[in-house]
Amino acid sequence: MTGAGISTESGIPDFRSPTGIWAEYDQQEYATIDAFRADPDKVWRFYALRFRALTEAEPNAGHLAVAELERAGLVGAVVTQNIDLLHDRAGSRDVVEVHGSIRTSSCLRCGMRYPLDEMIVLIADSGVPRCAECGEVLKPDVVFFGELLPKPAIDRAHELARSARLLLVVGSGLEVWPVSMLPDETVAAGGEVAIVNRGPTTFDDRAVLKIDGSAGETLAALVQAVAS
Ligand SMILES: [Zn+2]
Repeated sequence: MTGAGISTESGIPDFRSPTGIWAEYDQQEYATIDAFRADPDKVWRFYALRFRALTEAEPNAGHLAVAELERAGLVGAVVTQNIDLLHDRAGSRDVVEVHGSIRTSSCLRCGMRYPLDEMIVLIADSGVPRCAECGEVLKPDVVFFGELLPKPAIDRAHELARSARLLLVVGSGLEVWPVSMLPDETVAAGGEVAIVNRGPTTFDDRAVLKIDGSAGETLAALVQAVAS
């Protein structure tokens, strides 16, 4: 299970730390569905920067290690809070995105869906991408505050947590629902939890292992240790 902390090493700011996105942008003004409906142009001035930062970032050693562990049969699937597609780009095959992603954006009026490469062109052309069919401002298929989480992804995340012998948490403080629930489910079903995160998490005292350090360095070392 991965959170923003695995992608900060790719230069993507997290949300909740003192240098995170919410320190600079008020989430009520930029990340709620009500804010989007009230002033989509303003929200897009923020999201255009986000799209550029996310698409210019590259997967780091942490993402690559997770993909390697999956190829080795040691990681069953990745549940991620991240919307940045870096697990995909690193080669992970089974990625469950509980907060959606920037892979597509949708028209809230007519339902047309636009892939990322078209969105990049639309954003570059106008800053505020509009639906080619009906003219409505498009919304990234990222879960905004006040929106429901995608049920199939949430259900799958819970299933994976219950069936995991080990839930490896990387780069998440485990503060945000639904991922905050997953370690409890793993332990209740007889599994264990290990955590790699800079700073405390809500599950530190019940994890079998907690490493306070870099996701990239720690997971690369894990891959090496497993290979030898
Ligand atoms: Zn439309």
